[in-house]
Amino acid sequence: MALGEFDLIARIRARAAARADVVLGIGDDAALLAPRPGECLALCVDTLNAGVHFPPSATPADIGWKALAVNLSDLAAMGAEPAWCTLSLSLPQPDRDWLDGFLDGLLALAGEHGLALVGGDTTRGPLSVSITAAGFVPPTQALRRDGARAGDEIWVTGTLGDAAAGLALVQAEEGGNTGAPGFLEPPGAETGPAHRAFLRGRLHRPAPRIAAGLALRGLAHACIDVSDGLLADLGHVLAASAVGAVLELDALPASPALAALRDPVARRRFQCSGGDDYELCFTAPPARHEAVRAALSARGVQAACIGSIRAGSSLVAQDAQGRAVRLEPDGFDHFRDAIG
Ligand code: ADP
Ligand code: MG
Repeated sequence: MALGEFDLIARIRARAAARADVVLGIGDDAALLAPRPGECLALCVDTLNAGVHFPPSATPADIGWKALAVNLSDLAAMGAEPAWCTLSLSLPQPDRDWLDGFLDGLLALAGEHGLALVGGDTTRGPLSVSITAAGFVPPTQALRRDGARAGDEIWVTGTLGDAAAGLALVQAEEGGNTGAPGFLEPPGAETGPAHRAFLRGRLHRPAPRIAAGLALRGLAHACIDVSDGLLADLGHVLAASAVGAVLELDALPASPALAALRDPVARRRFQCSGGDDYELCFTAPPARHEAVRAALSARGVQAACIGSIRAGSSLVAQDAQGRAVRLEPDGFDHFRDAIG
C-alpha cells in the first residue's frame, strides 16, 4: 500500500523505542539528546545502496537489520556502548509492507542493544539506507586503530569468511557471479543445506560484536571490525600503528560450514579476503592473554589468536609448519599459493 512521506514518518515514529537520555525524539526539527558526562560520543555513519551492498534476494527485514548492524559493528570496534541512531531512507515508492518489514529487522537489532531511533530523513529515490549511530565510551578506553605495539598478539572473534562464502552462494543463485575478478567461487556441492543456510545468515544478519568491544576496554591495544576482509582491515591497523605483523594462516578460525569446503585455497581466500563478517580483529600484549580470553568468554564470545605484531611495516603470513605464504593484502581475490 502506498503512503505519503508523513504517513511513513508516523509509522516509524509509532515504533521507535524511548530511552531516558532522549529528551526529544522523532517529530521536531532535531532530536534533543543528553550525552553522558565525562564520556566521548562515538559517532559513525554507513550507507547501503541497492545492488551494491545487498543482493536482490535480501528481504526488507534483512536490509533493516544489516544497515544497522554495520554501524553497530563500528561502535563495537571502538569499544563504545550504543545509544542512539538516525535513519536516512530513500525509497523508490512509499510502500507500507516494505517499510514494516524493514523496521522489523532494524528495530529487532536496535532492541537487542537498547538503541533508540531518534530522527532521520525520508526521501524518494533509488533504494538507499543511511544510518548514523552514536554511542558512549570513556576517552581513555576507546579501542583505536593506532595502538598496536610490537610483541602484541593478534586476535579475531568468531569465525572468518562465512559472509563472503554466503555472498558467493547468493550470487551464484542469482546468476550474478560471473567469475570476474572480485568474485569468489561459490562453495560446491559438498556444502549441504544447513551449511548454506548458515552462510546466508552470516551474510544477511551479521551480529555486531558490541559485548566483545565492551569486554576489551582496558585490555586491547588496537581494534578494528572486519568489514572489508581480514587482510585489508588488519592492514589498516598496521598502517595506523606503524607496525608489521606475522599472520598464522592455519590459526584462522573457520565455522563448520567453511571448514567443510573441500578446497583449502578457496577456504583461505574467504577467510583472508572476504568481507562482511563484522568480527573484531584486535591486538593485546601476551601478558594479557588469559585476561582477554576470560573477559570474552564471560560474555560468551569465542576468539582465536592468529598472529603477532612486530616492528617494521610488512604483513607476512605463514602456515602451521612456519613456511612463508605469499599474500597481496589489498586485493579481494589475490591470494597466492604457498611458496617453498
Ligand atoms: P524537516 O523538514 O524539519 O527535516 P522532516 O519532515 O524531514 O522534518 O522530519 C520530521 C521528523 O521526522 C523529524 O523529527 C525527523 O527527524 C523525523 N524523521 C523523518 N524521516 C525519518 C526516518 N526515516 N526515520 C526516523 N525519523 C525520521
Ligand atoms: Mg528532513
